[in-house]
Amino acid sequence: MSEVDQLIQENKELKAKLRDKEILFNHIVESTFSGYFDWNIKEKKEYWSPTLKKMFGYENHELYSSPITWQRLIYQEDLPIVFDQMDAHIKSRGKIPFDCKMRFHHKQGFRVWIFCQVKIVEWNELGRPTRIVGSLTDITDIKNIQETEAYVEQLESRNKELQQFAYVASHDLQEPLRTIISFTEHMSEEYKDRLDETAKTYLKYITGASHRMSELVKGLLDYTRIGKNFKIKKIDPNKILEAVLQDLHSLLENKNVKIEIEKLPKINGLETEIRSVFMNLISNAVKYSKKDVTPIIKIGAIKDVNVVKFFVEDNGIGIEKAYLKRIFLIFQRLHNKNEYEGTGIGLAHCQKIIELHGGKIWAESIPNLGSSFFFTIPA
Ligand code: ADP
Repeated sequence: MSEVDQLIQENKELKAKLRDKEILFNHIVESTFSGYFDWNIKEKKEYWSPTLKKMFGYENHELYSSPITWQRLIYQEDLPIVFDQMDAHIKSRGKIPFDCKMRFHHKQGFRVWIFCQVKIVEWNELGRPTRIVGSLTDITDIKNIQETEAYVEQLESRNKELQQFAYVASHDLQEPLRTIISFTEHMSEEYKDRLDETAKTYLKYITGASHRMSELVKGLLDYTRIGKNFKIKKIDPNKILEAVLQDLHSLLENKNVKIEIEKLPKINGLETEIRSVFMNLISNAVKYSKKDVTPIIKIGAIKDVNVVKFFVEDNGIGIEKAYLKRIFLIFQRLHNKNEYEGTGIGLAHCQKIIELHGGKIWAESIPNLGSSFFFTIPA
């Protein structure tokens, strides 16, 4: 082989090696979700890797690699941050690193968060950069998670504030209410001979409304107290249910209610609170029963791998599909107080308790046939 042939052969081998390295490099870049650019200022040439263009939603041929392109795509508010950092990087001759997070407009219109690190690889004799390379990483997912976490934190703290407010308000409202109730009662008793019938009726309304308001305020106060003594332990829902049915004994007897209970599995939970859930659901099943039908309430549970799903089923008046979610909101009632007594707090109470346990509560119903309330407790 002549010397020239040997050189050609070596050149071929070198080119093949280079191509191989380039393929490897591109694979690595793609697998890290990064992109890079190489800006040769002296030769007025800029290269953007296809992976970089992809970050903004473009195919390689769709985007021209140039400083104007990224300045068009970047959020204009973030532009000064980039220039300031670049300035500091150049003035410190590369000692102050250039690494900044900035936002770009994706082709589809959404926001892309990019973490960019830049390095000046060539300088001229005047201390100006002549070649700059940079790597860019898409950090949108991380940023979105951080933003969601910050939002959740903000909501939690606002929630706590609101809870505190509701607690203080309902606590402080009780005192003047007690005074109103006690004086109207005194008045109806002591002035009963001097008041005419109209005044007596008005007084009766005032007493009724005050008692009702007192019930609402008490309900609100109880609601804010849920989970104050947060002591989760192994509890036996069968025993809890027994006690609840004992408490409701006369109501159940008066209404001739039939109760069918399956054996329930033990759970980890807050005893008083779970008791209150059963109390609310069973009382409602009785309250919203049909006038001339024997109320039948079925209570049971299905044990799954991760949760225990309880149900309380009745054959009562039922609930229209459109209201199945609304009934869990505080003070939301589907009937007025003359039809069915109540405060509209019971189910909100249940929801708060079940969510405190990390579970879910919902209702299914067929109007005029009955309703089933389900709740889950993590096993
Ligand atoms: P309250 O019973 O004090 O009004 P709840 O929060 O317990 O408040 O219930 C909200 C509403 O949901 C009730 O006003 C009622 O309209 C409806 N509801 C609850 N339980 C049942 C049930 N078992 N059957 C039919 N409707 C029900």
